[in-house]
Amino acid sequence: MPSWFDNLADSILDGGVITEEQAVAMLATSDRDLLALIAAGSALRRRHFGMTVKLNYLVNLKSGLCPESCSYCSQALGSAAPILKYSWLKTEEAVQQADIGIRGGASRVCLVASGRGPGTRDVDRVKDIVTRLKDDNDEVEVCACLGILKDGQAETLQEAGVDAYNHNINTAESFHDTIVKSHTYTDRTNTVAKAKAAGLSPCSGLIVGLGESDEQVVEALFALRELDSESIPINFLVPFDGTPMEGQWNLTPAQCLRIVITARFVCPDREIRLAGGREIHLRSLQAQALHVANSIFLGDYLTAEGQAAEDDIALIRDNGFTIIGHENDPDSSRTPTLRKRGAGTAQGANA
Ligand code: SF4
Repeated sequence: MPSWFDNLADSILDGGVITEEQAVAMLATSDRDLLALIAAGSALRRRHFGMTVKLNYLVNLKSGLCPESCSYCSQALGSAAPILKYSWLKTEEAVQQADIGIRGGASRVCLVASGRGPGTRDVDRVKDIVTRLKDDNDEVEVCACLGILKDGQAETLQEAGVDAYNHNINTAESFHDTIVKSHTYTDRTNTVAKAKAAGLSPCSGLIVGLGESDEQVVEALFALRELDSESIPINFLVPFDGTPMEGQWNLTPAQCLRIVITARFVCPDREIRLAGGREIHLRSLQAQALHVANSIFLGDYLTAEGQAAEDDIALIRDNGFTIIGHENDPDSSRTPTLRKRGAGTAQGANA
């Protein structure tokens, strides 16, 4: 017999919408229902995105040294996390880094800089990088993520060739001031609105696992729908040692998956991206999550390493998906590795 969420998926496929109460109930479904819930979410994914996966590649233009106080962030003022810290990459190096991701299969490059927001000189730096990138790869989308925008900066970026602007709301308005004091939730939503008004595709998402309630996850997802976020990255808290969130592991892999599925139900036709922390939170459920989400970051994150890029590609292909822009590439990943350890050798066994 179909469950209530199967019926809800059918209704959404016919143009219906989920209510906040249903979304909260979805987050509270049992692990026994997980497989059926994945199937319901994947029907929505397939309607809007078929079997495609979009690959995105991060270039951290400026790392650490941020004056803001976001308690989840390893780059924040007061963070003692031993991350890489450097000021702006030169244009040449930024373009080289982006090229590595493009060659690896990314169709979107995300140019990110830590800080409250860009100055005029910073916007000029990004303009140079985008111009160079677009000269060589006009089909690649460029997303900038530079913090809170002042009036006119979104227009300048759009005129320079930037396609999208990322500024995550991160969490619900009702929880925001618990996790950061140096700027407001409205600062964040205003920047998303400015990007949209300037013709940039709004990209805004979440970090889950901060200690928010299920109701607050739902509040944030509905806010993203209202904001018209076209790409929704879902980050799972990476609780770096040396930050206020050190040691906070509030999520199970199954709950992470339920959050991804609920995001799909709330925003069925938006890009749902598995973002930072997916490997350590979803763990062996990454493949199931990809049947609901339609986008991932390739390789590493801003300050944390991701899994090997070849494992990302295998995750996609082994589950029958194709990478946007690389639909006909041959699968060259099947090279048997001869055993040189365990029985008959002096090396330890693989166990
Ligand atoms: S999230 Fe952004 S603004 Fe907040 S501390 Fe980190 S780099 Fe700075």
